Parts: sequence; C-alpha cells; structure tokens
Amino acid sequence: MKKAQKEGKLIILSAPSGSGKTSIVRYLLKNEPQLEFSISATSRQQRRGEKNGTDYYFLTADEFRQKIANNEFIEWEEVYKDIYYGTLRSELERIWRENKHVIFDVDVMGGIKLKDKFGSRAFSIFIQPPGIDELKRRLTGRGTDSPEEISMRIAKAEREMTKAGHFDIIILNDDLERAREEALEKCKAFIGK
Ligand code: ADP
Ligand code: 5GP
Repeated sequence: MKKAQKEGKLIILSAPSGSGKTSIVRYLLKNEPQLEFSISATSRQQRRGEKNGTDYYFLTADEFRQKIANNEFIEWEEVYKDIYYGTLRSELERIWRENKHVIFDVDVMGGIKLKDKFGSRAFSIFIQPPGIDELKRRLTGRGTDSPEEISMRIAKAEREMTKAGHFDIIILNDDLERAREEALEKCKAFIGK
C-alpha cells in the first residue's frame, strides 16, 4: 500500500527588507530538516553569489507577466515598480510531494495573502527590526543595494511596520542569535502540533 502523505504545513516569514528574515530562514532550514524553502520567482536582477533555481527562479518581466496570465502563481506582488516576486503553484506541489513543510520568505503583503489563503495550516511570523534607523544601517552594511534601492526599501518598510498585527506572532530581531532561537522553537512547536 502507498505510504499516506502527511498534510504539508506552511511557515511564513515576513518583514521589512533588512530586518533579518533571510538570516533567520537560513538558520531554520539548517536546524529543522522537515522544512524546505519555497523558491520564489522574481524579475529583479540577480545579485552576485545568487543562483538561479536555488535563491530564486530569475525571469524577465515579460516571462513573469506570462505566468501571471497563465494563473501559475499562488500569490504574486509587484514589490517595486516593474519588479515582480511570486510563489509558483508548482513549488508547493514539489515540496509537499517530498513530504516536507514549506517555509516562505515573502514581503509583508504576500505573507498576509498566504495566511488568508491557508488559515490554520499556515503559521505566520513577522520579524520586527528595532527601528528604521537600524534598518538603514543593516541594509547599508549588507552592501547589496544601491542608495536608491535602499531609499525604496525604507519607504516600503515604514508602511509595512504598521501591518505586524496581521501575523500569528511577532519576533523582535534586536539580537540575531536570540531571535533565531525563538523562531526555531516556535516553528518546531507548530510542526509538532
Ligand atoms: P532581510 O532578508 O530581511 O532583508 P537579512 O537577513 O539579509 O534581511 O539581514 C540584513 C542585514 O542585517 C544582513 O547583513 C544581516 O547580517 C544583518 N543582521 C540581521 N540580523 C541582525 C541583528 N540582529 N543585528 C545586526 N545585524 C543583523
Ligand atoms: P530581495 O530583493 O531582498 O530578495 O526581496 C525583496 C522582497 O521581496 C523581500 O521582502 C522578500 O521577502 C520579498 N519576496 C521574495 N519572494 C517573494 C514572493 O514569492 N512573494 C512576495 N509577495 N514577496 C516575495
């Protein structure tokens, strides 16, 4: 008889850019083998060190719009002008086929949409930075974005900070080691339920 498939769960991490979600997601993936990263599609430029099919599926804006028209996305956002990000349906199917739970690193509006869609099957976490000045310092220190991109990200962050209440829990990332431990503990508890 075929082995019964476990019901796949979803863990959603959202936060303003620079809050530390990528750092926390990497830690969760390393320490919780039942999790698998949902690789998003995007039309933004590939950064040095990023791999197509590992960090993102990199598409042109036209290819992205074609997939929107074909209804291939569970959710998508035009996060910055002409720069799209989205989760492909095929990605969730791939991960659940492997009997894993999905972990997402998505922007705040995307996180709210995914939680609305999947309800109690999903656990949504808002990573809160200590403040806007600290976000600017982190984004500058990361060294991956131009001053114009940093200004765009900060403007968006100010709006996103007001949406924290839509998430199941808020984790303050003032100290990365503490924040990632708290995230791991909460994720293990949710998976084990
Ligand atoms: P995001 O994915 O939310 O954009 P990252 O994980 O890339 O954020 O973090 C942004 C930058 O801030 C990185 O250079 C990271 O090393 C740094 N960082 C993350 N958490 C902290 C923290 N608690 N204190 C100081 N720097 C941090
Ligand atoms: P970055 O350019 O720094 O990789 O990501 C920019 C923003 O887009 C981040 O807030 C990231 O979480 C978000 N993002 C990445 N993938 C997706 C996705 O599939 N959907 C949505 N809505 N946002 C995403």
